[in-house]
Amino acid sequence: MTTDIVLNIAYVDKSFSGLHALKDVNLQVEKGKTHAIIGPNGAGKSTLLNVCIGRLAPDRGTVTFNGEVITGKSAHEINQAGVVRVFQTPEIFHDLTVLENVMIPALATRDGSFKLNPFVRMDAETDILREAEQALEEMNLLEKKHMHAATMSRGDKRRLELAMGLVQHPQLFLLDEPTAGMSRADTNATIASLQHIKERGMTKVIIEHDMQVVFSLADKISVLAQGQIIAEGTPDEIRGDPRVQEAYLGGTHHE
Ligand code: ADP
Ligand code: MG
Repeated sequence: MTTDIVLNIAYVDKSFSGLHALKDVNLQVEKGKTHAIIGPNGAGKSTLLNVCIGRLAPDRGTVTFNGEVITGKSAHEINQAGVVRVFQTPEIFHDLTVLENVMIPALATRDGSFKLNPFVRMDAETDILREAEQALEEMNLLEKKHMHAATMSRGDKRRLELAMGLVQHPQLFLLDEPTAGMSRADTNATIASLQHIKERGMTKVIIEHDMQVVFSLADKISVLAQGQIIAEGTPDEIRGDPRVQEAYLGGTHHE
């Protein structure tokens, strides 16, 4: 294996009480690349991500991150190692401001703990404040930093969640359908923000239904259908692959 493989998923199998969700999945993510995983609903995409971040244990197979086997480690340990995931449904603190939402994961990353120290004075944390503002700037949310998170639009909430991920300085950023439920305008704004962080050379895995997002951002695409990788290649290769059109466009999803 070459040294520039950040994530190596090898022979991963996972069943849920009889349902075979992942079947012998092999996938390699190269450093600095944006690797998209596409496929119809129920294909096993989120399950695969959950295996990578330690939320689910595979029945068989291993996941290696930067040359180290992470299968069996806790979700917290994997996160501390630099694997950051943004969830399919936004997990934000609705009662806090936009800026506070981003300061919390920044503090957690610095202190190595998810438990917020009640004695921390947010307004005294100038470095954390600056980092949080940078992440908001990258997601084009800086002008909204004093807004209550609860009052944001759905698209802004999802970009806020991306900023909360970015502020953790991911070595591997895993995004589960970052534009799900967004309007076309919000989707385009999110593509622009993701393109911007792509230029910084961040390694990303992105699960996405929206073909416009996939084709604008991905260097490589793996297609998952019924728990199996059925095709892999560049966006051009995948676009023209009849197996993909059959499995993906023949699936339950409609744009
Ligand atoms: P995708 O993200 O591609 O839509 P998922 O990984 O969420 O697919 O699901 C793959 C299959 O596994 C689906 O049939 C789903 O119902 C099933 N599944 C996912 N998580 C669980 C679970 N915790 N328990 C039982 N079945 C599950
Ligand atoms: Mg999913």
